[in-house]
Amino acid sequence: MNWRSQYFGGSKSLPRNCQVSSHCVMSMVLFGRAIVTFLPFAPRFIVGWVAKRYTAGESLEKALELMKKLSSEGACFTIDVLGEEIHSIEESSWFISEYEAVIDSIVSSGIDANISIKPTALGLLIDTKSAHSNIERIVSKAAEKNIFVRLDMEDNRTTQATIDATLAMHSKGFENIGLVLQGRMFRTPDDISEICNILGPKSDFRICKGIYLESSEISHTSYRDIVSSTNRSIDLMLDSGAYTAIASHDLPVIDHSLQSLESRGIGPGKEDPRHETPVSRSDGKGPGYEFQFLLGVRGNIRRELSRNGHRTRIYIPYGKKWYEYGMRRLRENPGIAVHVTKALLMPWTNRR
Ligand code: FAD
Repeated sequence: MNWRSQYFGGSKSLPRNCQVSSHCVMSMVLFGRAIVTFLPFAPRFIVGWVAKRYTAGESLEKALELMKKLSSEGACFTIDVLGEEIHSIEESSWFISEYEAVIDSIVSSGIDANISIKPTALGLLIDTKSAHSNIERIVSKAAEKNIFVRLDMEDNRTTQATIDATLAMHSKGFENIGLVLQGRMFRTPDDISEICNILGPKSDFRICKGIYLESSEISHTSYRDIVSSTNRSIDLMLDSGAYTAIASHDLPVIDHSLQSLESRGIGPGKEDPRHETPVSRSDGKGPGYEFQFLLGVRGNIRRELSRNGHRTRIYIPYGKKWYEYGMRRLRENPGIAVHVTKALLMPWTNRR
């Protein structure tokens, strides 16, 4: 396979530009921690300079401009309005109208995009009933335009509630909604089985490792375990007939996915062989799977996947809350600072 030989030189070892000495890794870890400690004291424009790579800007117009540019790279998009956990249900109104504007803009611009929502921004941790009706407002408007809605997965306080919200929307007849599951969580294989039992081929997952560092009582905590449990979840999703959006920049996960897809006869330009009658899905979906990348991360791998015919989607966050959002992510998972540091010091490991 072209992609594998390009990145693995025909073998399963990591490519040279991904192999760094333990001394180098240790220095980056220490540097990353220092960044997390000192960043809150750094002038906002410095943080803004780093964030520019990972967010589309403060406005929807900026996000649309960027997506038009990136469309030439063969990618499609999922748009995220920055912001999360609100403190009163009234605050959710702003998110609802912003997402309604996003849906209108997707339609009027003709950009190949869908949307991603953080359920806590719609009040999931404040009042379940109101949160469900907020989600329904967005999902029903998106359904009118045949646009898909993905509920992002947040920390473990929200896992069951996010699954419940997704199932509730399906039970009301909205099929244009799916959710994210996190490979690191012990419960994920059970969640996949349960959701697939209820929704059948309409199940639609994004699978990622999970950005939140959860405790060892409920999640895998070592890199190796997280990679293998994520890979097992990908296989389980594929074997359950679910739409599987693989969201990882990690070569062992991407390579495993490519092999799993190939061994199941799933791939670019083929009908999804897992279903005798094609499953109707919202606009812009791949043949049963797609690869997803965060804006600004490992564009070279994304472009290569796209050149090889795979559906690739870029997660496009925009909004005024970029500073708070970025700081919170860094506090929750200082490992991100290591990635960002690596990207700045060794740009060949992460081309935008
Ligand atoms: P890693 O081993 O962390 O990264 C592999 C390599 O990718 C790194 O060595 C580095 O070179 C590069 N890299 C990774 N992240 C960055 C970065 N931020 N900056 C610079 N370089 C980087 N998590 C959730 O918990 N809930 C969600 O809803 C969710 N949605 C996601 C949506 C998408 C489209 C993607 C791609 C990820 C999402 N995540 C979500 C985050 C995910 O769980 C991981 O935390 C994140 O992708 C890093 O894991 P990785 O698999 O890329 O592997």
